[in-house]
Amino acid sequence: MSYDYDAPESQKLFDRAQVVTPGGVNSPVRAFRGVGGTPRFMVSGKGAYLTDADGREYVDLVCSWGPLILGHAHPAVLEATRAALARGTSFGTPSEGEVALAEAIVERIEPVEQVRLVSSGTEATMSAIRLARGFTGRSKVVKFAGCYHGHVDSLLAAAGSGLATLALPDTPGVTGAQAGDTIVLPYNDIEAVRAAFAEFGDEIACLITEAAAGNMGVVPPLEGFNAALRDVCHEHGALFVSDEVMTGFRASRTGWFGIDGVAADLMTFGKVMGGGFPTAAFGGRAEVMARLAPAGPVYQAGTLSGNPVATAAGLATLRNCTPEVYEHLHRTAREIAGLASEALAKEGLAHRVQFAGTMFSIFFAEEPVVDYAGAKRQDTERFRAFFHAMLAEGVYLPPSAFEAWFVSAAHDGGAVDRIAAALPVAARAAAAATARR
Ligand SMILES: *Cc1c(COP(=O)(O)O)cnc(C)c1O
Repeated sequence: MSYDYDAPESQKLFDRAQVVTPGGVNSPVRAFRGVGGTPRFMVSGKGAYLTDADGREYVDLVCSWGPLILGHAHPAVLEATRAALARGTSFGTPSEGEVALAEAIVERIEPVEQVRLVSSGTEATMSAIRLARGFTGRSKVVKFAGCYHGHVDSLLAAAGSGLATLALPDTPGVTGAQAGDTIVLPYNDIEAVRAAFAEFGDEIACLITEAAAGNMGVVPPLEGFNAALRDVCHEHGALFVSDEVMTGFRASRTGWFGIDGVAADLMTFGKVMGGGFPTAAFGGRAEVMARLAPAGPVYQAGTLSGNPVATAAGLATLRNCTPEVYEHLHRTAREIAGLASEALAKEGLAHRVQFAGTMFSIFFAEEPVVDYAGAKRQDTERFRAFFHAMLAEGVYLPPSAFEAWFVSAAHDGGAVDRIAAALPVAARAAAAATARR
């Protein structure tokens, strides 16, 4: 089936891009490989809406994959970044914005006493792992299948979303030594964790988990799972690392930590805290963070770390994330999910709506999804038809069945109405698609 209806300008840009960039994109899931067709090249965003190169407008349910919690081009974020820009783009020295952003994080997230700012979520998790190894003097890392922690070599085993979409079992370019220190376990399976620690406990530096998994679709931890992980880590002298790059300042004001209250030794942040700019962070107990250079021996650095424009955008975003904003996100996410569920049920389509705070996604699946094996059992052919019908109706969903859907403070009644109008059409398209298997 061809999906290349009325996107001639995007197609032209994609043709140009494919000459000079592998696959035509700078991050794989943008290429629409999981759904087919021409990726839309966007030219502007405002509030809940994106406009593509062909002049078509979409309600955006991706929000830059999470960061744009206030919506596109929020006036306060634009004003703060313009003011920062006018003072210069980068100093290569400490500046006040970095201190203020670190204070804003420490103030919100109780277990975090100190943070180090970096430029991407990948850098945050990579550095947290290095620090955990430096702190414990051990080498092994435990992660879960379907959890994504950025494209860190040692964490790219069974890493969800991008890799799931591309159906790569693993990635070439990661050496046996890098992968060999990584233990991959099924998510939400505490017995598998206990067994791994029983065998390798004194070699394990840390266990890293998404605070609530959002990179295989949304799969929240089962009741008590995160607390049990923390306890097992501590029994064996390993650090518990909670990756809140997606959930941080998104699932709630205090991220997933604010929902389950399980304190980690190290935490990673990104996405929302950068307000649409490349800023991320890792942080934790002062005793652990003190091992980081220049206070301690574990090296870590960055030319643009704590960039003044990026930190201004991040601060403006966090400051404007009021309790009302989270209430709105919570309500709007449930409203959209409810409408989708209604439309799918009307067509007799098996599906599961899953939430993690204000994040959600919909699986074309019969059973609740608790792990990566379950996520992979969803019917991606139906999602593909559903996605393209939504796109044609002016709603931009994540172009993969393995991604969370994001709403923003700017998703108002008008945006929800457009989604509501598109959903019955998309549900019919999904019902008409041939089921996989
Ligand atoms: C997005 C994400 C990352 C990677 O962040 P980048 O800024 O894309 O490098 C890491 N962990 C989680 C949980 C994420 O969702």
